[in-house]
Amino acid sequence: MNTQRETDRPAPHRVLILGAGYAGMAAAIQLAARVRRQQDVLVTLVNAQDRFTERLRLHMAATGQQLGELSIPELLDGTGAEFVRGWVTAVDADARTVRIDDDRVLHYDTLVYGLGSVADTSAVPGVEEYAYTLNGPQEAEAVAHRLAGLGSGTVVVGGSGLTGVESAAEIAERHPELDVVLLGRDEPGALMNPKAGAYVRSALDRLGVRVRSGCDVVKVLPDSVELAGGESIAAGLVLWTSGTRVSPLAAAAGLEVDERGRVVTDTTLRSTSHPEVYAVGDAAAVRQGYGVMHGTCQGGMPTGVHAAVSVLRTLRGKRPKPFRFGYYHTPVSLGREDAVVQFTRPDDSPRKMYLTGRTAARYKETVTASPWPTYGRMKKMPASGAFWPRGGRFTRIRAAR
Ligand SMILES: Cc1cc2nc3c(=O)[nH]c(=O)nc-3n(C[C@H](O)[C@H](O)[C@H](O)COP(=O)(O)OP(=O)(O)OC[C@H]3O[C@@H](n4cnc5c(N)ncnc54)[C@H](O)[C@@H]3O)c2cc1C
Repeated sequence: MNTQRETDRPAPHRVLILGAGYAGMAAAIQLAARVRRQQDVLVTLVNAQDRFTERLRLHMAATGQQLGELSIPELLDGTGAEFVRGWVTAVDADARTVRIDDDRVLHYDTLVYGLGSVADTSAVPGVEEYAYTLNGPQEAEAVAHRLAGLGSGTVVVGGSGLTGVESAAEIAERHPELDVVLLGRDEPGALMNPKAGAYVRSALDRLGVRVRSGCDVVKVLPDSVELAGGESIAAGLVLWTSGTRVSPLAAAAGLEVDERGRVVTDTTLRSTSHPEVYAVGDAAAVRQGYGVMHGTCQGGMPTGVHAAVSVLRTLRGKRPKPFRFGYYHTPVSLGREDAVVQFTRPDDSPRKMYLTGRTAARYKETVTASPWPTYGRMKKMPASGAFWPRGGRFTRIRAAR
């Protein structure tokens, strides 16, 4: 009798989530927790490693600080979601399959694409060959190893954005014996309000970081960097943090992508060319009233949660709701004892209010540590993951006339 009933049951809807970063993980937990007791949806999460990479802490790992052991399979335990460890090598959007490590093929009915981003090492000659990055735990460990062996000399951090600032500050604090040079077009903290930006620069100065703004690196060599204008700076290590790029897999699969290769989504986070594909996190080009969102954990986790809820609404015959997200802060660490937290409007422009010093450092640490416990809470109470600022008039998209 039972066997008969089981064969009559329609095949479950297969939701395949690619990438267990901040966004993909949020999607997987949210969806798995919501469908736990129903057998009509099968959730599978694919990731290169079975340990969750806390990208927000990779500048700490790069100076030899130990990161937590956060096991993805352990977190998924009890949710019914399956975990597949492997490297995604191709997506076939027509056949609705994904190739893993070139030899395994997984089928999907709905795909959630969350393969994140890495530092753009292609824009400047020599970066790919000679510069170090914070693209993952192994890369960060390689930096730590190299720094520990340098003894003295110069470390050049290429890129004066927030990752560059955090990295330069961390290296200078942990390795006072090294000369740390932060190179970039813009002044560090340029997008903050003037007082908060000035605080960032004075903290870097206190830590002994030499800031060179208004310069373009045109070439990286094995032991130096060359600037536009011909100046050369000797470097025992070059850490590249400037710009990001995404996996070419979405474009190769024929999904509509923007000029940076990110999957273009509609208001509900579905691919504009392939509605059975959702895109989340850094890999997605998500338009809001203020423009296309830029990659952050702050905005990435909500995209994951929203995509999961949308998948489920669609399966239950309801219309998915538009995704809306407004930024609220930019926390930047300046070593372990200092930080700046710039509060922002929903479009990410700086407000007057900001925090500095130990209070800011504690705030930053709380934010950095929060994703993993958030996933744990979501596993028990999925609705707890659905709180983020919707951004009011800043995020509203006006209908085309
Ligand atoms: C040093 C540093 C500090 C940062 N600090 C902040 C901060 O303070 N606040 C903030 O909001 N943002 C910060 N960011 C940015 C933030 O980390 C990213 O925006 C965020 O990680 C994006 O999340 P994601 O899930 O889209 O991608 P990711 O976190 O990059 O995750 C993508 C996952 O997909 C996996 N993957 C990629 N390709 C494949 C493949 N082909 N096959 C299998 N698996 C694959 C990766 O291994 C990874 O696990 C920081 C970034 C760095 C590098």
